[in-house]
Amino acid sequence: MQQPRAVDFLIQALTHDRLSHAYIVRGTPVGAQPLVQALAVALFCPQGGCQHCSVCEQVVTETNPDLFTLRAAEDSKSGIIRLKQIEALVQKTLLPPVQSRLQVFVIENAEAMNTEASNALLKTLEEPSTQSLFLLVTPHVQRLLPTIRSRAQILPMNTEVQHADQAGFLQWADMAQVRHEEQKQAIISQLLTRNQQDLILQLQLLQRACWQEALVHFRAQPSQRTLVYAQQLLQLFDTAIEQLLAHGNTKLVVDFFCHDFFRLRGVRSR
Ligand SMILES: [Zn+2]
Repeated sequence: MQQPRAVDFLIQALTHDRLSHAYIVRGTPVGAQPLVQALAVALFCPQGGCQHCSVCEQVVTETNPDLFTLRAAEDSKSGIIRLKQIEALVQKTLLPPVQSRLQVFVIENAEAMNTEASNALLKTLEEPSTQSLFLLVTPHVQRLLPTIRSRAQILPMNTEVQHADQAGFLQWADMAQVRHEEQKQAIISQLLTRNQQDLILQLQLLQRACWQEALVHFRAQPSQRTLVYAQQLLQLFDTAIEQLLAHGNTKLVVDFFCHDFFRLRGVRSR
């Protein structure tokens, strides 16, 4: 519950200079890439992420000298991230950034770090350089060492649900179109037909779409208000998902979630 939203991260980066030094981005490397790039351009671009300048281009083409992405070695059949890779990364944290005020280190499939690699990273996370920011990308947060998890904050991002679109799940447009009570009740009824696990998946799917929409709005109109609003919506999803994971009463969770969600969206109740 206390985890900052990805939008918090942006707010902090853009306005308060209060970055944490390590974040966990929940998702596959491909799924997380848009968010990682959005965060990097927000941090590096002199215009706060214009998408057009040479700095933004460097991020997209992975040629920015202050953005490092670590993947499992290509010759590694096991896909394991080894100690020597983390050691090389740690060496880079000792150097100052080349052209930005900080360096961003992305570790893709961070769950693939073996114990030695994890422990080497842990040392760096315990005594972080103020000029380093780590983004640990993993679809399996629970496979990270608890000590690593405790030193990084989780960003809300759910990409486990890439294929749910075909399975008759509610789409974000269905939620976004709701204007009056009858439509709202129809959504509630539809959500209540799902078992607990599908409901979690459904909410993750909607949360991801919600975040993507927020990001589009934010790029078009970068304002704190846009972000705070998005943050409130994303928080509702997180709360509902947490309650479901804790085996909360499905009907209560759905009722509570829909009540707050549609209130925020400005749908009047009878
Ligand atoms: Zn730019």
